This record gives sequence, C-alpha cells and structure tokens, in this order.
Amino acid sequence: MAHLLGIDLGTTTTIVARIDASGAPEVVRDWDGQEVTPTAVAFESAAAVVIGREARAMADDADHVFTEFKRDMGTGVSHPAFGRRVTPLDLSALMLRKVREHAEAGAGPVDLAVITIPANFTNAAREATLEAARRAGLGKVHMINEPTAAALAYAHASGGLAEGLYAVFDLGGGTFDVSLVRARGMDVEVVFTEGVQRLGGKDFDTKLLDIVRAGFRETVGEEMRPGDCDFGRADAEELKHRLSSRESVRVALRSARHGRVPVTVRRAALEAATEGLVAQAEMACEGVLLRAGIDRSALSGVFLAGGACRMPAVRAAVERVFGRNPLLRDPDTAVARGAALYAAHRANPALLSPAQRRRTSAIRFQDIAPHYFGTLAMDEDGLLENSVIIAKGEKLPVSRTRTYYTAEPDQRILTCEVTQSAVAESDPSMVLRVAEVEMPLPPGRPADQPVEVTFSYDLDGVMRAEFKDLGTGRPLVIELKSEGSGRGSLNVSRIRLD
Ligand code: AMP
Repeated sequence: MAHLLGIDLGTTTTIVARIDASGAPEVVRDWDGQEVTPTAVAFESAAAVVIGREARAMADDADHVFTEFKRDMGTGVSHPAFGRRVTPLDLSALMLRKVREHAEAGAGPVDLAVITIPANFTNAAREATLEAARRAGLGKVHMINEPTAAALAYAHASGGLAEGLYAVFDLGGGTFDVSLVRARGMDVEVVFTEGVQRLGGKDFDTKLLDIVRAGFRETVGEEMRPGDCDFGRADAEELKHRLSSRESVRVALRSARHGRVPVTVRRAALEAATEGLVAQAEMACEGVLLRAGIDRSALSGVFLAGGACRMPAVRAAVERVFGRNPLLRDPDTAVARGAALYAAHRANPALLSPAQRRRTSAIRFQDIAPHYFGTLAMDEDGLLENSVIIAKGEKLPVSRTRTYYTAEPDQRILTCEVTQSAVAESDPSMVLRVAEVEMPLPPGRPADQPVEVTFSYDLDGVMRAEFKDLGTGRPLVIELKSEGSGRGSLNVSRIRLD
C-alpha cells in the first residue's frame, strides 16, 4: 500500500493527512497526539532544534523561536540564530523533516507527498517550498493550491455529489484566498482565484492583544509594560478560539507589579476591532465575482477552509457576500485531506492498493495560473513595456512561445526579464521583476534578429523561461528558483547558456 501524505504547511499550524487503506483521507496525529501542530521552530543551540507545540510555547520569551515564517517564503528575509542566519526556507525544511520522520516512524517511507501553498504564493515562494521539501528528505513532492485542495476534500466528502460552481473561502493563520471552482463529482476545475497575502487569524490575535492591553490599562490605571504581564500571542490566540463559541471570556492576567488583574473580553469588542480585516476579505470575494463575471446566485455553494473561519463574524461575512450559508465541515483539516487525495491522484497507480485505487480513481483535477507572467520588450515608439506571455487563469500545464526582435544593429546584450503581476499590465513599473539576466549576442548583426521566448508553467505551479537567440540557436534558460540564502531579491539560481 502506498504511503501518500498531504501536508498543509500553514502560517500558524501544520496539519498532515494520509490516504488510509480504504482510500479515504485521514488526519495523521502529530508527536503530541494532536491533529493540529503549531508551525514553530525553536533553536536551543546551534544543533538542537525543537519543533511544534513545545517550540510555540517558548515563542513569547525566547529569541531563537521562529513562527509565521511562511509569510516570508521566497524573500530575502533571514534571522540570526546561534551564530548563523536562518531563512524561512531553512525553517520550513526543519518543520517538514520532523513531519516526515514522524510519519515514517509510523508507516514506513513516504512514497509521495503533496504540500499545499496559498493560491497567491509568488513563484519564488513556490520554489522555496519545493526546495524545503527536498532538504527535508521528502523524495517525490508535488504542490497544490490550498483552496483547490479544500475543494477536492469537500467534493470527496460529498460522495461525488458536488455539482456546479462553488466558492472556496480560505482564511488561514496568515493568508486569505478565495477561489471559484467548478465541481462535477470528483472532477474539480479551478475557474478563478484571488487572495490577500497578509490577512489571516494572526491579524485577529494582534487586535485581541490590543484589547487585552486596553483592559489592563482600564483596570489598573497604567499601561502594560513589556515583561510585566504573562499574556502573550499564544494566549491571545487561545482567547480568540474561546470567543468563537462564547460571547465573553474573563481572563485573569498576572502582573509582576499589580498581582492578579481580571479583564473581561467580549466577542463584540473583537468584532468591532477586526471589522476592517473582515471587510478586506469581503472585498476580495466581491472582486472575484466581479472579475469572473459571475453572479452569486449562480453558485451552488460555499466551502470554508482555514481555522479562522470558525469565527462567527467571518461566517456572517461569507453569508453576506455570497448570500448563502457556507458548508462547514472540518475547515481546519480540509486542506490537508484534499492534499492527500491529490497525492493519490498524482501517484503511480501501480503503487496504490486496489481499495485505494477504487476510492480515488474518479478524481480529476484542473488548476490555473495564479499570476500573469511576461517579459519586458520595446514597443514601436521605443518605450519599454510589459508583454504578457502567460495570463492569469490559463489552464495548467501551459507552455507558450513568443518571438521578439533585437532592437539595434550590433546589439551585444539581450536583457532577459521575467515579470509577474496580479492584473494584465503593460507599465513596467507596475509589475514585479522576478528575474533579469543578460545574454551576450554575437557582434556585427543588423537589428531585428528573432529571439524566441518560451514560458512554461507546470502542474506544481512553477515557471520556467527560455530565451533563444535564433541566429546562434543558443538558449538561455532561467529556472526560477529561490536562493533561500537571504541574499538579494533575484530568485534565479540556475541560468543555463548552452
Ligand atoms: P489554518 O492555517 O488554516 O490552520 O488556520 C489557523 C488559524 O485558524 C489560526 O489563526 C487559528 O488561531 C485559527 N483558528 C483555529 N481554530 C479557531 C477557532 N475556534 N476560532 C477562531 N480561530 C481559530
């Protein structure tokens, strides 16, 4: 029987699911016997690392504890830890290694793992995730967008009865995505996707900390000073969870100078303080419907994913914007279960047991490009413009070739650029330049020499760009990879000039 894992490597929590002997996804409990593991890595020394709950518990009072690093994947961010610098990629690799080792201790080597990523993750962040998985010792790995995985889990849980267009509202610990998917039984096709990269449960925790601090000030008549009180982010998160089922919670703060300070926190106060956050999610949903040209009455249903959907105000917002009750079926684990199902879909069928094959063979799946990708070229007036090669929303995998021409006689350098943007954009200053590499050209040629540019975007959502000067036949291949070293912003580690 194949060992197939789905890993929801979330900003604040990590959840792992596997395909069981009957072919159904089941959540794998972590080393503490829990379904949900805090995404946290703590260094006790240069060599000793603690992962998960224990690390999270240390987070408020130690320098070498790292959480929320997913938000910085694929960027140049790095942190000092015992004489070296660690990147979000390093931290993700440590987290994934622990997950792999724990899963393998119970069920033998992993045959295939699927890691979920936010739909709006940049190309560099996707590459960094794949590299982290490789360093964690996971052999064969694929990725899937989180909302799509959730849709797959819901379609599977409905017993193949899902039919029509669904919205997937995914509010996790650190990111928010909303997608439109068409489901026909176990056949799931992503139609549109949009996200807010820095919006999640974490932002609600921050607001709640402010509320608790204000309560402290009201009770004792002075500000809460750093180190004075033992109420930290982890406590705020737990309080937020309790406020999802209760109207108010009484917290007994212990202050070094004032002793026991009782503070009552009401759900209404949290809701008032987080109205702006909820409104951002609502606006993104309205934007998706508008841009996809779909009226909300055309939806067959709304799926929720991400633990932060447990907040009543979030559910009310979903109802408001989509005009219907969302389906709430284990939103915290839906993404991991969907990822495990996708692992079964991508696995070599010969590896699956007959029962696993029977339960998962009906899965069909179609994902789309989450960004526009293009290159910079001169227009007729000699002005630089962004030329889109792969459009957001195109079905994956996609490979497209366009021909461009050199601009000047005896042009000796061709600047090969790859751009990424959220909307179709011709202004170069409005797009993200993800790679820029210079290709030397032979001397003495007239202008207008053709250069063939091929962009390919694969099923894991990773982009590859090839620039080929047809005169010499020499291709310059840019494989977009994250350096993960904290150096610079150029996410190119391998450039081939054959
Ligand atoms: P995810 O990344 O999807 O696991 O979502 C994690 C986020 O969901 C974190 O911000 C959690 O604090 C939040 N969360 C989990 N359970 C609840 C709950 N009962 N009420 C409010 N937020 C929750």
